[in-house]
Amino acid sequence: MPPKRPRRANPVTFTVDVEDHRPDPSWPVRYASITHQLLDWFDSRAIAATFFVVGELAVESPALVTEIASRGHELALHNWRHEPLTAMRPAQFRDWVRRGKGVIEDLTGAEVVGFRAPTGSVVPETLWCIDVLAEEGYLYDSSVVPTRNPLYQFPGAPQQPFRWPNGLAEVGIAVLGIGGIGAPFGGTYIRLLPLPVLKFFLTMNPPAPGGSLYVHPHDFDLDEPRWRVPDAGRLSPLLWAGRRSLWKKLDWIHQAFGASAPLRDQLHTADQGGVFHDPLVPTGNARLTTT
Ligand SMILES: [Zn+2]
Repeated sequence: MPPKRPRRANPVTFTVDVEDHRPDPSWPVRYASITHQLLDWFDSRAIAATFFVVGELAVESPALVTEIASRGHELALHNWRHEPLTAMRPAQFRDWVRRGKGVIEDLTGAEVVGFRAPTGSVVPETLWCIDVLAEEGYLYDSSVVPTRNPLYQFPGAPQQPFRWPNGLAEVGIAVLGIGGIGAPFGGTYIRLLPLPVLKFFLTMNPPAPGGSLYVHPHDFDLDEPRWRVPDAGRLSPLLWAGRRSLWKKLDWIHQAFGASAPLRDQLHTADQGGVFHDPLVPTGNARLTTT
């Protein structure tokens, strides 16, 4: 029997960040086979998702990119290399998003209009990226984490889609939380929460309209040898915790909330349906106001 639908349940957008989790290129490639498992899982539930692919991987695995597209999903860019925007300059970023868009478009024949920064690194210090993305033909960004977070964070940003002053849409990561406690809705955070706790949080505080859930191929990889991930340091073992239970959690989320269309297909209907929050206008010192 399907789970009882929580009150105020909005369909969830399923997104996948396709990145390479190996510490060293001499290790065997693992992301491709697990991405295929995800494609089968989406097919069996008639879900069309958004796949944010690292540009270099599109060059390395062109057949995987065309397979994702041929199975009805949206392809978007997860930067050219998996580097946070805080480590980049605008000119290099422009070059990377232009190159990534071109490579994926050449493979699939479909326009790439979406971008997600590695580790949610669209933060007050990197807002120069918003104009670059719009100028390079992107229609939306899906990077903002509107809550406090150990990596990058943008507390104070709206938790539902909004537009930046230049018109670029922001359809960021949904927040999983209750009261003042929040975490990005995906990856490590849903792996670590036991299913009953996850159900409780999501039932009490369902994701906002347009909310995205994100996963990575390695979140499901039971056979990946352990290694120390520099970003996580001593917390690296957490990146391997809860992998076995993730399929079951996705199943529950899908049954309880349903699935939205890929992000690109939501932009028009979200505008018409009044889903977008007021534009977000960062001030000179990056404090946020809404108009
Ligand atoms: Zn990533």
